[in-house]
Amino acid sequence: MVTTNDYVHTHRWNLLRAKIKQTRPWVCGICGLPIPRTALPRSRDSWSLDHIIPVAEGGDPYDEMNVQASHLRCNSAKCARTTTAPAKYDAPPVKVSRCW
Ligand SMILES: [Zn+2]
Repeated sequence: MVTTNDYVHTHRWNLLRAKIKQTRPWVCGICGLPIPRTALPRSRDSWSLDHIIPVAEGGDPYDEMNVQASHLRCNSAKCARTTTAPAKYDAPPVKVSRCW
């Protein structure tokens, strides 16, 4: 059984990662912005492979349909949450002074 994060040290993971990096657009699947090819490895804007359904929640770590390109920072912020959207600032509710 593959436990959380064990998959990243496998040959199979490296192959999948290389394949996705070469064949998919360099657009972050989490925030939707382009991923700069000039970003330094492991920097916040660098390319990272994200699991759409986190492995911790039963997602297949090697399923091509379960992975997407992402910024390292977006992937880190997402962590093991299933949401595919970045955490958004929740505006306080607008106070209505009277009923219309
Ligand atoms: Zn992003």
